Amino acid sequence: MANLIGRARRTAQDPVGDKLAGPLHAVDPAVGRPALQSHEDVSALCGTHVQVVPVEDVPDDTGLCPACQYGD
Ligand SMILES: [Zn+2]
Repeated sequence: MANLIGRARRTAQDPVGDKLAGPLHAVDPAVGRPALQSHEDVSALCGTHVQVVPVEDVPDDTGLCPACQYGD
């Protein structure tokens, strides 16, 4: 699995801050590491705008979106 994971931000209609939920996306470390500090949104490998989260915060059984999973 990628070192850095992103999750799509919830929409305004959905509450923020509850459990991590999919789909999750793989993030290029070169892009994701600074974003982990700055909390800025970045583009995942598949192009989705995501919030970067540390991989250790992601449940083991959580899958990546197909494009990120098989894209590389
Ligand atoms: Zn993706």
